[in-house]
Amino acid sequence: MTNEMALSFSATLENEPFVRTCIASFVVCLNPTVDEIVEIKTIVGEAVSNAIIHGYNGDKGCLVKVKAYIEDDLLTIYVIDKGQGIQDIEKARQPMFTSKKELEHAGMGLSIIEALCDETTIESSLELGTQLIMKK
Ligand code: ATP
Ligand code: MG
Repeated sequence: MTNEMALSFSATLENEPFVRTCIASFVVCLNPTVDEIVEIKTIVGEAVSNAIIHGYNGDKGCLVKVKAYIEDDLLTIYVIDKGQGIQDIEKARQPMFTSKKELEHAGMGLSIIEALCDETTIESSLELGTQLIMKK
């Protein structure tokens, strides 16, 4: 079965719960376990909050996009921002690296995503933005 969805929403953390719930509803056709739903909501929440907080520095006038595809029981989720981009992707992937220590971030979002996904790809260009591709 092939199925797909796309969402575009203002870059505010108020939208994070709604996006997590949308993805959880979208994957119901895969008959996920409760644990799998929790994991999918977690990775989407971490990726979306990164796009809002780091990509756009909380500028509500900007838009974050989430796309999801189901193909042969494989889920692929894209979280896309057109924000500032990641300076150093290898550094960003390291556990406990954060560029926003002053805001009490733990630097664990990307590590959690990588631990919960089968495959994670980060594509980013300075001033152009970031696309995170998560397969599960
Ligand atoms: P936490 O997720 O624990 O609150 P964090 O967001 O800083 O802290 P990660 O999610 O692991 O930690 O991200 C690590 C770093 O990668 C961020 O501090 C930021 O510098 C960079 N980063 C991640 N996503 C983006 C993005 N979409 N745009 C720009 N920079 C990003
Ligand atoms: Mg984060």
